Amino acid sequence: MSAESAVRRIERTPPAEIERVRKWIFTEEYREKNFARQALVVNPAHACQPLGAEMVAHGFKDTLPFVHGSQGCASYFRSTFNRHFREPAPTVADAMTEDGAVFGGQNNLFEGLENAYSLYKPKMMAVFTTCMPEVIGDDLTAFIKNARLQGHIPADFPLPYANTPSFNGSHINGYDAMLKSILETLSAGHQSQGGDNGRINLIPGFDANTANYREYKRMLKAFDVPFTLLADISDAFDSVNDGTYRPYPGGTPLEEAAEVLNGKATLALQKYSTVNTLKWLGEAAQGTVESLAMPIGIRNTDAFLLKLSELTGKPVPEELKAERGRAVDALTDGHQYLHGRKFALYGDPDYLLGLVGFLLELGARPWHVLCSRTTRKFEKEMKALLETSEFGRGCTVYINRDLWHLHSLLATDPVDGIIGDTHGKYLARDHSIPLFRVGFPIIDRINLHRLPLIGYTGTLNLLTQLANRFLDIQDETCEDQWFEMMR
Ligand code: SF4
Repeated sequence: MSAESAVRRIERTPPAEIERVRKWIFTEEYREKNFARQALVVNPAHACQPLGAEMVAHGFKDTLPFVHGSQGCASYFRSTFNRHFREPAPTVADAMTEDGAVFGGQNNLFEGLENAYSLYKPKMMAVFTTCMPEVIGDDLTAFIKNARLQGHIPADFPLPYANTPSFNGSHINGYDAMLKSILETLSAGHQSQGGDNGRINLIPGFDANTANYREYKRMLKAFDVPFTLLADISDAFDSVNDGTYRPYPGGTPLEEAAEVLNGKATLALQKYSTVNTLKWLGEAAQGTVESLAMPIGIRNTDAFLLKLSELTGKPVPEELKAERGRAVDALTDGHQYLHGRKFALYGDPDYLLGLVGFLLELGARPWHVLCSRTTRKFEKEMKALLETSEFGRGCTVYINRDLWHLHSLLATDPVDGIIGDTHGKYLARDHSIPLFRVGFPIIDRINLHRLPLIGYTGTLNLLTQLANRFLDIQDETCEDQWFEMMR
């Protein structure tokens, strides 16, 4: 065989064919084929379970997230947090390799726990798995029991753990599993036999907006009630830069979290990312356990504050009432720039429900709503929400579809704006539609996680972000005779 015939020629696609396909993928015909696809997923709008588990762990004081599995997976979680928050995400991994995949990862776990405990001196380690140990069937319960028995870790050291198989669910399920395990571990033996301790437990859920956590705290402080914000990542992922590196800045104090079952009430602001945690709390906690929609927009924020008022027996503080008045005034001033505009939204179920509620309040139209991994229950709830407003008419909900499906929707039924995380920037460019960055991850813009989206302040921020962008576009694209000083 000659050297020439051994080398496979690279066939170049003729430019005319590239152009034909480029146009074809924008057609109804292609949309039909795209929606008929079964086995392949292209650009899904979700991350894997362990990433969610890691985020919970960062929300507890002096807690080290511990990845049982591959080093590469741990690097992916960490780098995604690094890029979104522009902060370190100190985490360890027991770095299973080929021999771990064959013989199981118990020895990796033993060595990893021992090293991490002595080197990084955490007060708790939260262990969760990647695909590899899940596929080979590592028994985490037995491994951790053995680690204690064999002295790799002190018998009383808190070591919550969660199985977070990524071929199932998404980051919000990993969040839920890890949160439940941490709360179960910390609260064991702390259940009071007397009355409740008067505290309100607040669970924001998987929310990568650090300012939202600060906003929750500010609103609760305004009520002047004792509270515990569970899995508070605000300082871990928005820490001070004063020249001193702190591996565990902030987070929910472990002693406070240990009292979770004795609270007067527990309120979750995301029900889809806390399903199992809420189920367990509902059975084990003394106080009431409820979930509400994320307080995005006026109506959802009203419901949140009225619920706090009901639970605490205190009126809504005057300063929050005044904020509401200012937000309503701003919406009245600004709704004209958004009224009737169509939006495509994608992201996590709870965020989508909050955002759609907000758009409907403005008279905007959430035209395509897409969630790339969720349940029929969510679909039903979203449709019911859309039916509450005339602006929801004609809107369609797509579950378990990806961003390439969204491409076909935008190509054949365009909208005025897209709301979602950075993954949608290719769609925005291909279809010349502005992308409003909300959700996780946002890795191509700065500081958006430092601007709250919840509460009346968040409502104001969202309105400002949306309306001003449309005004910018108008100024940048209008003909000279329509270029006005005032808008
Ligand atoms: S999907 Fe599995 S293999 Fe991929 S990063 Fe997540 S845990 Fe690792």
